[in-house]
Amino acid sequence: MLSSVCDPFALSESCEVRLAPRCSVPNCERKIAGFLLAAAYCPTHFVAACNVKMNGLAKHFRTSCSTEAGQRKMRAELGQMADQVYAASLWCELFSGYERIRVLEILERLGLLFSKVRRSERIANVIDVQVVKDGPASGQPENTRTEVVSRHGATLRSSQNFRRGDFVNIQRLDMGSTARARVVWQYQRAAEGALTAVEIINKLDFWA
Ligand SMILES: [Zn+2]
Repeated sequence: MLSSVCDPFALSESCEVRLAPRCSVPNCERKIAGFLLAAAYCPTHFVAACNVKMNGLAKHFRTSCSTEAGQRKMRAELGQMADQVYAASLWCELFSGYERIRVLEILERLGLLFSKVRRSERIANVIDVQVVKDGPASGQPENTRTEVVSRHGATLRSSQNFRRGDFVNIQRLDMGSTARARVVWQYQRAAEGALTAVEIINKLDFWA
């Protein structure tokens, strides 16, 4: 049994367990990598839960979006899910290579659904940006566009090769504002440019 009280002088395994809850799927003891709504999931179950949720949203997409109120609700649901998937993606060392690709695919599907909801809300998902690698070997500026944005960051296509941890400067071409970001990961797909996830590190509400 784990103690429910954290003793600061004890070797704090129980504290650690308390701070890092386990997956909410029965009999799964793995560490969590993310939340979907209020439920915590390990990487495998997170991907599975996201796919179930996503299939549900996609299945009822047309009927849900047939009214203004339905569209707003859909955008809100997609937005919350994008935030949570994005937050989980920042823990990508917990995910296997295969799971990372699945997470990126979920972000990609979210982007597709987002693009189908009429754009009436404040934050658009497709934003033209210029990306330039930061650091000693800074690269050429590249004009591209985001696919999904969230409070934490964005995914975008890039023809450049990035490594996890690379810093980039992002300028919004619609507003001129700039932010610094860190590359979380990149998924190479020759034809369309690599899908690249970045985390904004110095601005809140950069996309608002
Ligand atoms: Zn699990």
